[in-house]
Formats: sequence, structure tokens, C-alpha cells
Amino acid sequence: MSAILKDEDFLAIEQAVKASAAPTEVVAAFDELAALRAQLNRLGEAESYYLKAMNCPHHHRIFAAEPRSYRDLPLRLAEYGCCYRYEQSGELFGLMRVRSLNMNDAHIYCTEDQFASEFKAVNDMYLKYFKTFGLEKYQMRFSTSAPEGLGKKYVNEPELWKKTEDMVRRVLQESGINYVEVANEAAFYGPKIDVQVWSAIGREFTIATNQVDFAVPSRFGLTYRDKDNSNKTPLCIHRAPLGTHERFIGFLIEHYAGNFPLWLAPDQVRVITLNDDAALIDYAQPIVNELRANMVRVDADFSATPFKAKIADAEKVYKQHWVTVEQTIDDRDR
Ligand code: ZN
Repeated sequence: MSAILKDEDFLAIEQAVKASAAPTEVVAAFDELAALRAQLNRLGEAESYYLKAMNCPHHHRIFAAEPRSYRDLPLRLAEYGCCYRYEQSGELFGLMRVRSLNMNDAHIYCTEDQFASEFKAVNDMYLKYFKTFGLEKYQMRFSTSAPEGLGKKYVNEPELWKKTEDMVRRVLQESGINYVEVANEAAFYGPKIDVQVWSAIGREFTIATNQVDFAVPSRFGLTYRDKDNSNKTPLCIHRAPLGTHERFIGFLIEHYAGNFPLWLAPDQVRVITLNDDAALIDYAQPIVNELRANMVRVDADFSATPFKAKIADAEKVYKQHWVTVEQTIDDRDR
């Protein structure tokens, strides 16, 4: 498996997809990609379009791309990863379930000794996010394995399960984080933490995960050279603190009831003139320009619409935060 695919790999996957009973949309997507590749070849482009694996295997391949030593660890690979998931049309649901998703995803490769501090740093970052977004009610849900599931639902590594679960539990206890422990709900490859948050109206959302992975790195043959010259397999922490951003925005819209704090509001300021008098517009336009130059999301209403109606329109969008410029050229000239 390769993070980026050579032509022959692409053709092999394309054939396999088409030979299986893939949904017509998936087959159509391959046709489109194949046409694009053919077009680039005709144009003599050296680069081609490639299929990118999901974020986890993509990062594992980057780790494996060169020899690693204990000095390289912890190695933290982060990206704003865009992934596609073919959801059935009946399953699509607003921003909560979509086919194109973006995550601020990262994979942290570390030694066992480094694990506790890396895992704690990830949890601390989550808490920082909650504070930023004003999420007061949250709980971390720590899912562990169960002995009867080993070799079936979970990789059959009883000692590693015990060791990593103990490490995660210790980090949670030492951080004084609000958490519950749930047996028999871990991921296939290791214990995980799901972050549950509650919106202002009390609805519960799973927003983020923080997972320990001690199984997949070895399946990908990931190793590092340790101090004693032996090859060891790193632990991997998967973390995506805001989950998929589409879903998180859906949560925030409900949480703030559409009334975003000023820093987050998609529309921050609107400059409104009393009417469409040219002198007024000359006065107001530099205000708009200056705000825009300072990265404020600003728009303008210099129309001839009655002033009251313009204000009423602005109030619909700018629920709490809006500014009127009281002094106008007209006032000053009077
Ligand atoms: Zn991952």
C-alpha cells in the first residue's frame, strides 16, 4: 500500500473497484479521475493526480518513508485532512453527516516513556479548545477492552492492553479531568477517549477522539532504532480535537443558537449610511476599507433603502454586536 499511487497501482484499484459492485457514483468518480489523468498525460504534465489514503495510513507511510531513530521521537504529524466518505443519500443530515469532511487530524508517534506526557498534552489542548468555545459541560469517555473480546473485537495483546489502559487512566486521574470509564468499547487497536459535550440546550454530542494505537504501527512495519540499537515499534496517538469541522460547526450553530461570539461570527460588522448620498459614502468607504485591511469581516449597506429598514435588516444578522456611526457629514455640516 502506498500513500500516493503510481499509475499501475491506480489502474489496479480502478479495475478492482469496477469489478466489485461499487455504487455508480464511486465508479463515476473513478472515470472522472482517469479522464483527468489522461488529460494531464496528454499535456505532458510531470505530476499526476493521485489517490490519497485516509489520514492515518497516510501519516504511517510518511513515518515509514525514512529510517527513524529514538532521537526523532516524539514525531507529530498534523494536517487539515480532507476525506470523503460515501454516505447513503438517506443518511446525509445537514452538517452532521456529510460526504466531504475536514479534520485537524494528527498522529503522534512516541516511545512508551514519552506516552504519558504526549497524551496529557493532547488532553490539555482539548481543554483549551473547550474554554475557547465556551463549552462548560463536557465529559471524557474512556473506553477500554474486555478479556472476552481479545482476538476478536480487539487485537490479541493482553499485556499491551493492560499497560496502555493503565497509562491512560493515570493521565486522566492526574489531570483531574471529568471522565467515565466504559468497558468493552475500545477501538480495535487500543483504548480510546471520546469527548462528549453538551450544547446550551442540553443535547449531547460526541465531538472528538483521542486514541492510543499499539497495533496498527506494527502492522505497517513502523519501527525506530532505539538507544541499544534494537528496532522497536512506536506507539501512535490519533487525535482530532474538533472531530470533523462540518459537524463541529453544526454543533456550534446550535450551541450559540446562531448568535456567534464576535471573533467567530461569519459577519462581524456592517457599515450603514443614512442614505445613498455620495458624500456619506465617501466618508463611510474608508471605514470599511480599514476594517477589511485589519482582517475584520465587514460588509456595507450604502443603499437608498430607508435607514430604519437597513438597521432592521442588520439586526437579523448581527444579533448582539453592531456599531452605528452617529456622526455623519450631514450632521457636521449643519
Ligand atoms: Zn488516525
